[in-house]
Amino acid sequence: MHTYGIDIWGEDNFIIENGLAKLNYASKPALVDIVRDIREQDFKGPLLLRFPHLTRLQIEKLYTLYNNAINEYDYKGKFNAVFPLKVNQLPNFLLPLIKSGEEFGYGLEAGSKAELFLAMTYNKIGAPITINGFKDKEMIHLAFIAKKMGHNITVIIEGLNELKMILEVEKETSLPTPNVGIRVRLFNSGGGAWAKSGGIDSKFGLSSTEILEAYELLKSNNLLHYLTMIHFHIGSAMTNIKPLKKALKESGHIYAELKNMGATNLKAINIGGGLAVEYSQYHRTTQYHLQEFANDVIFTLKNIAKQKGVEEPNIFTESGRFISANSTVLVTPVLELFSAEYELSNLRLKKDNPPLIEELNELYKDMNGKTALEYMHDSMDHLESLLKLFDLGYIDLQDRSNAEILAQLIIKKAISLLEIADYEELKRIDNKIQEKYLLNFSIFQSLPDFWGINQEFPIMPITHLDKKPTRSASLWDITCDSDGEIEFNAKKPLYLHDVNLEKEEYYLAFFNVGAYQDTLGMRHNLFSHPTEVNVVFENNELKLEKIIESQKIIDILEDIDYDTKEIKKILKSSLDKSTYVILKKYLNENSYLKTSWSH
Ligand SMILES: *Cc1c(COP(=O)(O)O)cnc(C)c1O
Repeated sequence: MHTYGIDIWGEDNFIIENGLAKLNYASKPALVDIVRDIREQDFKGPLLLRFPHLTRLQIEKLYTLYNNAINEYDYKGKFNAVFPLKVNQLPNFLLPLIKSGEEFGYGLEAGSKAELFLAMTYNKIGAPITINGFKDKEMIHLAFIAKKMGHNITVIIEGLNELKMILEVEKETSLPTPNVGIRVRLFNSGGGAWAKSGGIDSKFGLSSTEILEAYELLKSNNLLHYLTMIHFHIGSAMTNIKPLKKALKESGHIYAELKNMGATNLKAINIGGGLAVEYSQYHRTTQYHLQEFANDVIFTLKNIAKQKGVEEPNIFTESGRFISANSTVLVTPVLELFSAEYELSNLRLKKDNPPLIEELNELYKDMNGKTALEYMHDSMDHLESLLKLFDLGYIDLQDRSNAEILAQLIIKKAISLLEIADYEELKRIDNKIQEKYLLNFSIFQSLPDFWGINQEFPIMPITHLDKKPTRSASLWDITCDSDGEIEFNAKKPLYLHDVNLEKEEYYLAFFNVGAYQDTLGMRHNLFSHPTEVNVVFENNELKLEKIIESQKIIDILEDIDYDTKEIKKILKSSLDKSTYVILKKYLNENSYLKTSWSH
């Protein structure tokens, strides 16, 4: 059985049973049944299925890992975690996360004013809030206000100017002062594509000289007791544990030094995010076990505290990708297989055909298991020659159409003959005989990291999984942009099923899309977010909650600042009434394509 690497990326959250991809939870619903349910309510186009129980599971996992390690090493500090809002701020994702985190005291991290407003509004009083990123005085003022609301908030400064602004707001207002953290600029940076977050030439953090200056500033203003946290974040998706260990040592010693200098309220080290998620469906890319990771953190900090004779620090983490990625699955309907029009019934051979076409026809008729591979090669050569002849004006459009149909028919026949006999042979020419699948979605909107940084996502059809996929596949989205394609890659081949879309439905799912994709996505061609839904369970019973339909065309236009009244007025004035009524209906639908399967 072809399992699309589910044992590598699936973490037992999804299973394949009776040819269907299923959720491995509660009544184990098939994804296709959920999809049909939603489509029956007339929400067509791509879908984002969100599974809040998976977010909850990840939060539980995170706390369990660290608390296990704390017990194992008899560590005296406490474990705390916050969710970095930039990873996913959408309400359908975030509000259930906050609810699930309540019993753990799980907090939020904000990196902008808008995110801080979200944290101030929705974070549970008592659960920590941390603020990172560049700030102005207004943002710092907001932090003071959050403190007044009763929030346990720490402003992590990225530079001395921010500390000076804190001192100013402290003097100018009568608001309570939030805790202060210092982001350290590490000598040891992380690896991976996001390494710019750490390192000596990083965009963020204070150098050791600046840390000493910050210490003096706080002390001379009698505010040293507000310094509570040392912070670093070496980058996202760490595949290796070594850079983190180095960063831990460096920041652990900074913590201990400051403490010994007299920063008595300094009690925590915030190790940022970066826990990796397995996106590959071919081989494991993450080279550590999560428990090993947590153990290393606790062990390293314990040793430093012992060496320098200071209290073992509380630990904060800000992992976002790890918490959110697996909670969201993108399901896209397949609209078309490009070779579908190459049907025998469309073949219109003439009485007199060019010799190469006659030969193609012979190849097609005579092919058997033994000759399949050879004939397929020959047919591709013939097709190439025929296309050249067309360019030179020696054959006509009908000949060309016949040539293309015959070549495709030969490929299909060969695949079905070879499927059993010599599948391996086929793989050698996958590149040449691939099928193109047109998917009802926009890569720019729904998989921006694929477009931007070549991020892989696990891809799997949600039905037909008991059948052997025989077509090497490249995937096309519906934008008018040639970058809206996931090309077939022989090193990481994707095989899909040869389906007849007039008779059956076929959906592809992209997994682990819950981190970063939602708000990074862009409205290229004015495609907005897919229809989304929270799939929740009450007493084992599945419920679809909070369906948010993909944006209406008229709202998208309003979003990019068109005067929609004017648009309607212009259209109305140039059309008769009944046509305009139809037009208005279309304006109030989303821009994805409509498919109508017979069942
Ligand atoms: C982005 C970011 C995170 C989250 O990183 P993940 O790789 O998603 O875990 C945490 N902390 C800071 C400061 C960040 O900028």
